[in-house]
Amino acid sequence: RNAIEVVNVSKIFGSGEGQVAALDKVSVSIRENEFFTLLGPSGCGKTTLLRLIAGFDFPSAGEILLYGQDIAPLPPFKRPVNTVFQSYALFPHMTVADNIGFGLEMLGKPKAEIAARVAQMLKLVKMETLSNRRTSQISGGQQQRVALARALAPQPKVLLLDEPLSALDYKLRKEMQIELKRLQHETGITFIFVTHDQEEALTMSDRIAVMSSGKILQVGAPRDIYDRPAERFVADFIGETNFLEGTVVSKKSGVATVKLASGATVAAGFPENFDPSGAVTVVVRPEHADLIADVSKSTVSGTLANVVYFGTDTHYHVKLDGGDNFIVRYQNSRSGAVTFETGAKVGIVFEDDGARILRD
Ligand code: ADP
Ligand code: MG
Repeated sequence: RNAIEVVNVSKIFGSGEGQVAALDKVSVSIRENEFFTLLGPSGCGKTTLLRLIAGFDFPSAGEILLYGQDIAPLPPFKRPVNTVFQSYALFPHMTVADNIGFGLEMLGKPKAEIAARVAQMLKLVKMETLSNRRTSQISGGQQQRVALARALAPQPKVLLLDEPLSALDYKLRKEMQIELKRLQHETGITFIFVTHDQEEALTMSDRIAVMSSGKILQVGAPRDIYDRPAERFVADFIGETNFLEGTVVSKKSGVATVKLASGATVAAGFPENFDPSGAVTVVVRPEHADLIADVSKSTVSGTLANVVYFGTDTHYHVKLDGGDNFIVRYQNSRSGAVTFETGAKVGIVFEDDGARILRD
């Protein structure tokens, strides 16, 4: 069952020369009880889409359905939707408990019901002991929890979260990522989460919509998006990717044979609804390629330019003979290590299914 359906929604700001299509015919369905993420670079339209769902602004075209009903006639406060902003927007002079109860007060709920719900929310976000503190006197991470509790208190059907973790430092952000997953799971509320951080999107989401310039390019589970990016932008934005130019020489059922500039031919998969031909770009993830010493057996070859250690893994930067750069990544294991010195001639081979052709 879909909680939200966005159907052909466009949002145009300004007019004439200064016109910006913040959203350009966007369609996407978000399932009930899903942790759904909008991922894309700054300015791609993420906040605009959330604001349209919340009702703070209106689409220029298209419609938004909530459980099949057009929500256009509903003002924001009548929508069963709540928002957590990056800035938290708490009332600093009010206590934690009063902040959490604020939305319920506005809805005119009875005092006893508010008290009970606030207590439940304090427990949910583990803030029972700080209920009487003013929010100006708690830490950033604690403020984040209060903002979440306040947004969850009226029991919305959908919670919108606009880059809620971006103000937190790395460790706290990691903690809150797990906390948010737990809250979504425990409450069963549909979460629409916005981030420009691909790692955050991959670790937290049931599904991700990758956005660029007002469009949704691909929707899928984290693994689909990472392993089978549909377009060059998606492959480039999510994780690291090597790009090689080549020419399709033959193809059958989802796999093409591509002749690379090096003269080698590789088998490369390609997305459904796409028929590659002629000059194409082949993408290979750094962990889907291997370094070998015997250059005569390699698909592409070059000189090892740099070895970069990352703690959990090591990146080998190869300057290919044709001039392109190529990165091969190995996980650091306690036993074996790849032993190539900077300056060495190295060969590279791709793992089976490691190469894919993408739409530009
Ligand atoms: P994101 O949240 O992905 O960073 P936004 O949705 O905030 O992106 O913005 C998308 C585009 O729309 C940007 O080009 C932005 O400058 C423009 N935009 C957003 N809000 C307005 C507005 N109120 N007036 C004019 N342009 C806007
Ligand atoms: Mg934004």
